[in-house]
Amino acid sequence: MINVLFAASDADWRTYEAALNAAFAKARLAIDLSRSHAPKEASYIVYAPSGSLQDFSPFTDCKAVLSLWAGVERIVGNQTLTQPLARMVDPSMVQGMMEYVVAQVLRHHLGMDRYLRGQDGVWQQGEMPPVAQDNPITMLGLGELGRAAGLALASLGFPVRGWSRSPRKVAGIDCYHGEAGLGDALKGTGGIVLLLPSTTETENILNARSLALPAKGAFVVNPGRGTLIDDSALLSALKSGQIGGATLDVFRTEPLPEGHPYWSNPKVTVTPHIAAFTRPGSACGVIAENIRRSEAGEPLLYLVDRGRGY
Ligand code: NAP
Repeated sequence: MINVLFAASDADWRTYEAALNAAFAKARLAIDLSRSHAPKEASYIVYAPSGSLQDFSPFTDCKAVLSLWAGVERIVGNQTLTQPLARMVDPSMVQGMMEYVVAQVLRHHLGMDRYLRGQDGVWQQGEMPPVAQDNPITMLGLGELGRAAGLALASLGFPVRGWSRSPRKVAGIDCYHGEAGLGDALKGTGGIVLLLPSTTETENILNARSLALPAKGAFVVNPGRGTLIDDSALLSALKSGQIGGATLDVFRTEPLPEGHPYWSNPKVTVTPHIAAFTRPGSACGVIAENIRRSEAGEPLLYLVDRGRGY
């Protein structure tokens, strides 16, 4: 019997208990899933920052910590965590993110807001929108989510540029990397989608300097993390018209405080961190697969590199 400690909130336990047990049974793993295994008895920890576990040092026989969340910025710097850490990449989450990004990009690209806000009985043919082929989109982040969303946009005809830390080759996406590649990825682009992790290197990657590079009136979609944007620089760029509109799903403080200027800015759409959910049905299969791999001596999926911070 393999002991798996569930270390997340009460609500997460209610959501995940049955789904995890079903996934373990499907993978033919004999697992005792519990919220109360003693630290020395736990072979794996299913973890989310919604719970209270902070000190991983007593878990001396733990083979891996398996995160229920995709973003690991709240655990990656924990000095007591010496066990391998795998983050969540759930196929349904990838699909959800792809749908969110495509919906927001098409909405800004087509200028749909002027019709949504203008149901006043007056027949007003607005400007002719560009077709996708004429409107380059830049994906900042070409990981599991950025690649899927970028490829979906490319399949619709958008010229897609992608930017990553290390060199990447993705058929259908014009790839740039590193500090030196950022300018070329952003210059003259029609829209920016942020799907980077929150690290010290990515903080304020959209700032007054980088926001000046896209075509005038370009849009920003941020389902990545709030720290990626210098908020006052974005508000200034929206005011000047350099940036024409923004859809923001993630913020430095969540929930976004009442009275934050984003709420009242007509060019900004706030969505409450709903771009892509981890769905228990598919996510639990990923946890089970990682335990199976670990027990079979195979490498874990989606292992976090603590040095890089993601
Ligand atoms: P991932 O697979 O780890 O990919 C991250 C991408 O960012 C990689 O392409 C990576 O470059 C790039 N990157 C990291 N640091 C960089 C730097 N300093 N300069 C340039 N590029 C850099 O992550 P993912 O699964 O695609 O997820 C991305 C983020 O989405 C997560 O970290 C999380 O914050 C966010 N997210 C949000 C929601 C939501 O509901 N809003 C849901 C899930 C996830 P390399 O390719 O060279 O490694």
